[in-house]
Order: sequence, then structure tokens, then C-alpha cells
Amino acid sequence: MIPQHAPRALPTALLLSSLPARRRWWRWWGDRQFFVGGSFSSSGRRCRFCCGRAARRMGGVSGNDVATALAEKAALAMVVADPASLERKKAAVRDRGTDNLQVIADFDGTLTRYWIDGCRGQTSHGLLKSNPETDAKIQAQYEYYHPLEYSPAIPIDEKTKLMEEWWEKTHSLLIEGGLTFDDIQKSVSSANIGFRDGVVELFEFLEEKDVPVLVFSAGVADVIEEVFRQKLHRSFRNIKVVSNRMAFDNGRLVAFKGKTIHVLNKNEHALDMAAPVHDQLGDSNGSSDNSAFVKKRTNVLLLGDHTGDLGMSDGLNYENRISVGFLNDNVEKSLKTYQEAFDMVLLNDASMYGVLELVSQLCSPDKQ
Ligand SMILES: [Mg+2]
Repeated sequence: MIPQHAPRALPTALLLSSLPARRRWWRWWGDRQFFVGGSFSSSGRRCRFCCGRAARRMGGVSGNDVATALAEKAALAMVVADPASLERKKAAVRDRGTDNLQVIADFDGTLTRYWIDGCRGQTSHGLLKSNPETDAKIQAQYEYYHPLEYSPAIPIDEKTKLMEEWWEKTHSLLIEGGLTFDDIQKSVSSANIGFRDGVVELFEFLEEKDVPVLVFSAGVADVIEEVFRQKLHRSFRNIKVVSNRMAFDNGRLVAFKGKTIHVLNKNEHALDMAAPVHDQLGDSNGSSDNSAFVKKRTNVLLLGDHTGDLGMSDGLNYENRISVGFLNDNVEKSLKTYQEAFDMVLLNDASMYGVLELVSQLCSPDKQ
């Protein structure tokens, strides 16, 4: 499925939109039906490439040409290791209907872009700014604990304790530092963070089909909801953010609610932390979904950018799970691992249009 409001005139830049804007270049050949493009970082040391076939080069192309070009662009950036297995899963999900489907999505690097205008996009964890002293203490915690998070030498139960320790220290520092809701709004406003192309269309489609979306994050729900507010300027009644939630008193952070959600426990066990995004945005058309209702939806489309994100469906006794992995960087090094872990892998900070196409197939009983 391609968004109906896709532009009728297709600039070349649209086909190369996954590349950073800085020092972007492209060349055409084969009667201008094929292109190769790339962009260099400001230092000139880093280069990213893409290539593909365009429906037509510039201006005046038909809507069908645009659809073809966008679909081809999505296909170019997609790898499916076992197409027969994926087709079986798609058929099983389709047969059970949209009433049994839910989407579970990671936030950073999955719904949001990895690269923005040639720079590494910020994460919801990393964008929060309090005051220089608190920010320095939080950075020191990061430098101590982050290597431990990825250390293969630490057993998982010990690592889980370390992650709890890290999150709780960071939360305490934010409280002691006097973070305000105004700080969150300003941090998001100045942050280099943005959603992938096609995310809004995906959410609109799922909302129309009444398919719930759980956004799981080990960050902070209040920050993520502010990113939704500032970057999308609208709410979706079917989306819930499952993340750490702040409590404010007169606009100042005083506590975190409930159990800490960190990188090693963000899964459906944490559903009691969920709160609808629309509640925060004042949307009166609330969803009646609750965690029990979501747990009855036993077909899952899982979106993540890390193999650890596959654990987001832990705690859910699912019948069928289709997993989509965004492999944003180091493709050559990580492709084999991602191919083995995910049913579908989208490469190089791809758009969400490949997922939109997949979802439209899952929600169309007549599609084969
Ligand atoms: Mg992520």
C-alpha cells in the first residue's frame, strides 16, 4: 500500500531521501532509469550509498509511477532470509483477522530515524537536558554502565541488577537536579530527533483498522509523548507508550511511578505501566483497550532495531509473530545475525513504507 497523498511529481531527491542531505550526490545511467547515489559526512571520511531503479527521472510522473518507485525503493532496502516461512506466517495472521492482531514497536531507532541530515539522530534517552551539573553526573553514569550493558562476560541476572542500578541512579539524579516539564519540552524542541518517513501513514492505517500499537521503551514515557506531540502534532487513539513515567508537582519532577523499565525487562510484563498517549494530549476519543484486552490479541507484528527487542513479546502467549528488524548501520557486520533473528530486515535506516505494505497485506483477507 502506498500513501494516497504521495506527490505526483517525483523529485530525484525523494528516491534518495534515506541519505543524509549533506554533500549528497547521484548519477543516472541506462537511459536514466537507474541511479546510484550517496552522501559524504562533513569530514568527508564517511560515505553512504544507495542505488535503484526509478519510474522516471523528474517531474510530471503519474501517481502510479510514484507508487512503483516508492515500492521499489522499499524493496531495495529489505532482506527476507526465509520467504516461505514469512508467507506462512502472513497467511496465518491474515486468517485470524485484524481483531487478533497487535503491533509491538521499539521507539528509538525503530520509529525514529538513525540518521538525520547526515548526523546521528538523538534518542529519547539522550536528548534530555536538565542543568550542566546533573547532565555531567548522568553522563558519568553512562560511561560506567554502558560498557557493562554490552559486556558478554556478565551473566544476565547480574547484568539485570546492574541495569536496574543504572536506571535508578539516573532517575534519582533527574529528581535531585530539579528537572521540570518545561525542561522536557525545551529538550525535545532542540533535539535532533525525528520519525521515519511512513510512520504517520502506518499509525493512521492501524488506527483505521483498530489495531493496537504498544510502543515499548526503556526511556521515559513523558519524553516520548512530547516527541509525538512536537513532531507529529496529533494523537492516535490506538497507541500506548509502555515506559518509565514521571510524577510532577507544580511542573517539577518529584518521582517515577511504578516499577523501573530498563533495557532488559521491556516486555509485556511491564504492561501495567502503559498509559494511552491520547490521555496526555487531551483526546476525548479514548480507546477501551487494557492490558488484558491486548494480551488476547495473539498475533503480533514486532518492530525493533536490536535483536534484544525480540524480548518485547515475552509475557505474551502469541500464536504467530512476524518480526521486522531495522538494521540502521554496520550492515555488512550485522546482516547475518539480523537475518537469523528477524523475519524481515530493513536496511540502512529505511523508511516505514515496507512495514506499511506488510501491514496492509496482513489486514486484507483477500490478499494472497
Ligand atoms: Mg531501539
